[in-house]
Amino acid sequence: MSKSFFVDTTLCTACRGCQVACKQWHDLPAEDTVNRGTYQNPADLSFDTYKLVRMREEVVDGKLRWLFFPDQCRHCIEAPCEATAGDPAAIFTNQATGAVLYTANTDQLVAAEIIESCPYNIPRKSADGTLAKCDMCNDRVENGLQPACVKVCPTGAMNFGERDDMLTLAKSRLTELKAKFPNAMLLDPDDVRTIYLTAFEPTLYHESAVASATTGSGITRQAALRKMFRPFKNIASHLA
Ligand code: SF4
Ligand code: SF4
Repeated sequence: MSKSFFVDTTLCTACRGCQVACKQWHDLPAEDTVNRGTYQNPADLSFDTYKLVRMREEVVDGKLRWLFFPDQCRHCIEAPCEATAGDPAAIFTNQATGAVLYTANTDQLVAAEIIESCPYNIPRKSADGTLAKCDMCNDRVENGLQPACVKVCPTGAMNFGERDDMLTLAKSRLTELKAKFPNAMLLDPDDVRTIYLTAFEPTLYHESAVASATTGSGITRQAALRKMFRPFKNIASHLA
């Protein structure tokens, strides 16, 4: 059984310890930023930023609320980016952990196709065309450690473990929360290995909080069609 995250956004205080820990573990550089009139910093995910605490101020049910969303790859159970790439040397799923992993061979893919296939707007491209995103800290997980972002979270917002355990925790927290917030929900729990819990409508937190344009199995129509027809394309190239 693979691993999963459970991200309880109702416990997130936007301390951004997860953001910093992610940079530190992956030895990623800081970003040049400017004051944009928001506490969210930097503005977006990038080739050098795999984790970003998104911050919004919204009036919900007549009250001003701060909505925090620690955004990262969902490690989809049937990853559209992997199906679209169709090249295990570039994008593959680690069967032991469930991590969807990108290699340096992503520079051989059409970056725009991979980025478009992601229902959560996650992959980012470097100047040389290589793609990058959260790797579930697969090196740590394979050695029995927690992902860096989970290890440092002081509030219990970030959780990680066996998928069944995370689903049980997520459902139990949802039941508790529903008493106070009737619109609370788990986001695409059957399709992803990063399961978010929100107290309010998810798009208030982030426009890509839930999957966009997906089929029932969580794979975008375009990616599913490419996956279906790729064997014929490969046979044709071998015969040529
Ligand atoms: S969230 Fe996007 S980048 Fe991550 S596995 Fe799913 S499709 Fe790929
Ligand atoms: S699991 Fe690792 S790579 Fe992914 S967001 Fe957390 S710290 Fe970053």
